Amino acid sequence: MVMDLKAPRGTKDILPPESHLWKEIERTVDEVGLLFGYEEIRTPMFEQVSLFKRSVGEETDIVSKEMYLFTDKGGEEMALRPELTASVVRAAIEHNLVTKQASSSRLYYNSAPMFRYERPQMGRQRQFHQFGIELLGSLSPLADLQVIEFALAVYQKLGFANFHLKLNTLGNQSSREKWREELVKYLRSNLDALSEDSKRRLETNPLRILDSKNPCDTTIIGGAPNIIDYLDEADASHFDEVKSLLTSAQISYSLEPHLVRGLDYYNRTVFELTSTDLGSQDALCGGGRYDTLIEKLGGPPTPAVGFAAGVERLVLVLMKLRSGEIPKSKSDVYIVIADKAGREVGISIASDLRKAGFSVIYDLLDRSVKAQMREAGKSGTRFVLLLGSDELAAAEITLKRMNTGAQERIPRGNLLGLLQNS
Ligand code: AMP
Repeated sequence: MVMDLKAPRGTKDILPPESHLWKEIERTVDEVGLLFGYEEIRTPMFEQVSLFKRSVGEETDIVSKEMYLFTDKGGEEMALRPELTASVVRAAIEHNLVTKQASSSRLYYNSAPMFRYERPQMGRQRQFHQFGIELLGSLSPLADLQVIEFALAVYQKLGFANFHLKLNTLGNQSSREKWREELVKYLRSNLDALSEDSKRRLETNPLRILDSKNPCDTTIIGGAPNIIDYLDEADASHFDEVKSLLTSAQISYSLEPHLVRGLDYYNRTVFELTSTDLGSQDALCGGGRYDTLIEKLGGPPTPAVGFAAGVERLVLVLMKLRSGEIPKSKSDVYIVIADKAGREVGISIASDLRKAGFSVIYDLLDRSVKAQMREAGKSGTRFVLLLGSDELAAAEITLKRMNTGAQERIPRGNLLGLLQNS
C-alpha cells in the first residue's frame, strides 16, 4: 500500500542524525544563556490574534498574509504564533516581570516553533524554529551591545565565524515620522518606476519598500532619503554609542541605512546577521529595540531590546561547515547476550551500568551472537561485554575493548570499577 500521508508543506521532520545538531544548538544556547545571566521563558504556541495585530502590526506581511488563524470552539480568534517578542511582552506584563524591584529582566527562548504561511524554499519554512533573547528594562546602549554579543557568542561557540553584522537605526517616533514623510514624498515622485508591490506598499507600509529586492525598485531605493539625516540628538547619540561600543568590543559591522526589518514595533537600533553560506534566505538572525511596545500593550513604560535567530538556517550553515558530517551517538557499552539464560543477568548489568552513567545497549531481536558482535562492531561502542553460558556459570563476563581489540574475562563484580578506570 502506498502511503499518501506526508508532513505538511513547509514543515520538516527532524530525524537523526540531524537531530543531534539541533541538540547541540539547543545546548549551546542554554550555555550562552547561563554565561550572560539569562533565564529561559516558554510561552503558548498560540495566542489571541489581537496580540500580533497590536504588536507586529496589521500592515506587515507577517500579520496581513502569513498567520495561521483559527477560531476555537469558544469562538475566540487565535493565531499560531508567528514570532515570540509579542508573546514574551504579553507574558512579562501579565506576570509583572518588570517591576520597580526587578528593574530588568533577561529572558531567552530556545528552539521555539513559529508558524508563518510563506512560500517554502531553502531556509524558509512554514513551521520553523527560533532561539532568541528579550532584554527588558534597559535604555542603555550597553543593552544593544549585549544582545548582539549574545547572538555572536552562540555562533562562535558552534565554531562558526563566517557572518556579517548589518546595523541601522530607525530612530524614535519623532525622528522616524520626519524621515517617513520625506521618504514617502520621494517615493511618490518616482511612483511610475516602482514595482507593483511597492506601489501598494507606499499606501500601507512604505518603509518596507526599502527591503525590496525587485530590480525596478533598487535604483530608486538607492537615492532615497536616509534616516541618519533625520535623527534627533538623543537618537543620534544613542546610535553613536552603540557603534563605539561595538568597535571597542571588536565586533565589525556595516551600516545599512535601508535595513528596516519586517515588524512594526522596532525603534532605534536594528540589526541583522547574515551568512554567505546561505542562499537567498541569508539572514541568520535579526533584532533591535522596541522601547514602546510594552507600554503599547498595556504595561508600564519599559524599554527593551532583543533578537530572534532561525535554527533551520543555522543547521544549514553548520552542515556546510562540517561537510555534512554529524557525529552519530555511540553507546559506551554493547552487551552481547548469547541466549535466553543470560537475559536476567544481562538486563541487571545494563541497569547497574546505566545508573553509573554509562550508555548501554543490547540486542532486542533475539539475534545470534555473531550477528550481535557484528552490530556491536559497527555501532562504534567503546566496550563489548559478552555474556555466554561459560561466563554465566562462572559469574564472569568477557570484556572487549574496541579501541585495542584486547579481550579479557573478568569477575562480574569487578566490571564497574574496570570500566570506570578505563
Ligand atoms: P524575523 O522574526 O522575521 O525577524 O526572523 C528572525 C530569523 O528567523 C531570521 O533571520 C531567520 O533566520 C529566521 N526565520 C524567519 N522566518 C523564517 C522562515 N519562514 N523559515 C525559516 N527561518 C525563518
